Amino acid sequence: MKKIGLTGGIGSGKSTIAKIFQTLGVPVYDSDKEAKKLINEDEQLKQSLILLFGEEAYSNGEYSRKFVSQLVFKNKEKLAELNAIVHPAVRKHFDNWCDEQNKKGERYTIKEAAILFESGANEGLDKVITVNAQEEIRIKRVMLRDNISKIQIENRINNQLTDEERSSKADYLIDNSGGELLMPKVLEVHQNILTSS
Ligand code: ATP
Repeated sequence: MKKIGLTGGIGSGKSTIAKIFQTLGVPVYDSDKEAKKLINEDEQLKQSLILLFGEEAYSNGEYSRKFVSQLVFKNKEKLAELNAIVHPAVRKHFDNWCDEQNKKGERYTIKEAAILFESGANEGLDKVITVNAQEEIRIKRVMLRDNISKIQIENRINNQLTDEERSSKADYLIDNSGGELLMPKVLEVHQNILTSS
């Protein structure tokens, strides 16, 4: 069973494209969603984060994203330590999930992650799809979707690879600047994954 990565900058349309793959019957692992779940539910992970950030990392058993974000925003070492705890836990969870998909006889899975290359989550994957869209379009989409400011989105963009950097590392490129149907583009990649070795 192949493991395929799906990445792209904020607002590029990863989740939209992941949903299309799901309608084609492909199992999709949403790394950001699963990481959030693990941080709240995995006891070992919780204890490691409390050791690193103190009891305030959780409030009434719920992860205090705001508290931790404020700490790591100013401290690159703490951010690296946070990543060194969370990323391997997600990786292990993804591997177990893939074993289950393999047993079900799936031909390939998709691992969706915004910072796939930046976090090293591309390791062990067979191929990677990158979704591209012009920065202005992405900003407009995210402002509409999340009701946040342009500056907040630009800060996120500045912490991610550029479309060019991601594209140079990817095997498949999907342009999602709008104006064209996505389904034929996704179908083409789907067919290629199924038929290529
Ligand atoms: P993030 O990294 O923030 O999770 P994402 O890459 O997963 O973002 P989506 O959530 O799929 O991006 O798309 C961002 C927004 O843009 C969504 O509201 C989505 O409905 C919209 N969108 C995506 N693709 C298109 C398109 N081709 N035309 C119009 N709107 C689109």
